[in-house]
Amino acid sequence: MPSLYIDGTWTSGSGGSAEVINPFDAGVIEAVDQAGPDDVERAVAAARAAFDGGPWRPTSAAERGELLRRVADLLVRDKEEIARVETLDTGKTLVESRIDVDDVTAVFRYYADLAGHDAGRLVDTGNPAVVSRVVHEPVGVCALITPWNYPLLQLSWKVAPALAAGNTVVIKPSEVTPLTSVLLVRLLEEAGAPQGVVNILLGDGRSVGAPLTEHPGVDMISFTGGLATGQAIMRAAATTVKRVAVELGGKNPNIVFADTDFETVVDNAITAVFLHAGQVCSAGARLIVEDALHDDLVAEIGRRAERIRLGNGLDKGTESGPLVSAAQRAKIEDFVASAHAEGARLVAGGHRPEEPDLQKGFFYRPTVFADCRRDMRVIREETFGPILTVERFRDEDEAIALGNDTEYGLSGGVWTGDAGRAERVARALRHGTVWINDFGPYVPGAEWGGMKRSGNGRELGPTGLAEYQEHKHIWHNT
Ligand code: NAD
Repeated sequence: MPSLYIDGTWTSGSGGSAEVINPFDAGVIEAVDQAGPDDVERAVAAARAAFDGGPWRPTSAAERGELLRRVADLLVRDKEEIARVETLDTGKTLVESRIDVDDVTAVFRYYADLAGHDAGRLVDTGNPAVVSRVVHEPVGVCALITPWNYPLLQLSWKVAPALAAGNTVVIKPSEVTPLTSVLLVRLLEEAGAPQGVVNILLGDGRSVGAPLTEHPGVDMISFTGGLATGQAIMRAAATTVKRVAVELGGKNPNIVFADTDFETVVDNAITAVFLHAGQVCSAGARLIVEDALHDDLVAEIGRRAERIRLGNGLDKGTESGPLVSAAQRAKIEDFVASAHAEGARLVAGGHRPEEPDLQKGFFYRPTVFADCRRDMRVIREETFGPILTVERFRDEDEAIALGNDTEYGLSGGVWTGDAGRAERVARALRHGTVWINDFGPYVPGAEWGGMKRSGNGRELGPTGLAEYQEHKHIWHNT
């Protein structure tokens, strides 16, 4: 079956094909079609025509909500198969992939409901003869560009609100993990998305992503990925003054005061950083611990990290899968070398696993470094892998200063039994999400996004819909 979907037809495209690699054993899962420059043109033209003259824009929000609800039902029907493919493609465990599919289903349902309640508003002008209304309209053709770590989930955060708002879309998933994005487009087709409303192009950033960001027929770019790519996209989009929403990296502090439950914090701190082998934008990669608790916590987390069972994400006992690619593992090995060189103390991991059955894949042992200083590269840059660094603090002010000492501002955690302190620290942290006595969960109704260099957009929640809307003012002098 061809992998590109343009103007309501599955097609092979003109960019040749590319192999999709299973990170567990470096084997080929399948070869997928790649888009060429003419496919980019055709997809944008199809989305443009479907927006400008097609039946989609005049549909009611309730009708669009119905489409999203049908997609949610199909996701429930196909959950096991989609989760299996996500695990093959990304290496994450099947348990994680199933949670992803459930979360994606919830996102489609959330925006289906919200679309039906999104009415705009009346504004009081002080003049009874004037009716002033703010109405919500779609932005137009949206290019949705996604990363490889949560391919299905990240796409759902974009495509569900974009369609709920009445836009048409051209999807460009990561070339590293494109498979479940194709499956989702099949479900959108099955659910009845009209011709040209949803299109998907496979290919890399240079040959497909960049032309979309420069294309005059595209009105908006919604991008999730790395900082450097986000900066390049913002520059490219400036030429045609596109709306740009970027969701970028993170370097997320997890701050632990001594008055917290030891066992709970150990469990959570480990999951916060080693989930999906640390390849999570909101990973709690910087553990910042109060002096009194520091040594015990570091020792216990080190012991527990050594026990994490690596393996095939499809196998039941696996607690963590491989990194997504050889390139990603090489990056992690480089960070480990720099941490050693800069004087961090290795507490756990720091090498590839020795088990014979893990030699073909891109595995790396969960790694913990203590005695880290804020000037170290491993503290300053997003590692995006299974590395936990530990720093210590003396008091609340120092904890906040360390937590904010990063160019990123995506997420952070604070652990304490003192509710007043929890609130003070949560408000002082310059991060888009702060968890108190937890780390990692989210709900579709609450906004997600970064401050500072973690991005300028918000996904999820009502703001996640507003990103894809024009708010037009109509002044009616009756
Ligand atoms: P990446 O920036 O390398 O690639 C992301 C996407 O952009 C891919 O589809 C890629 O093909 C495309 N791309 C590359 N160059 C492009 C260009 N010049 N023009 C247009 N598109 C281009 O990121 P990645 O390695 O796939 O993902 C990892 C990054 O994503 C990490 O930094 C992570 O923190 C971030 N991320 C952020 C969030 C969030 O919610 N803030 C969520 C997940 C991942």
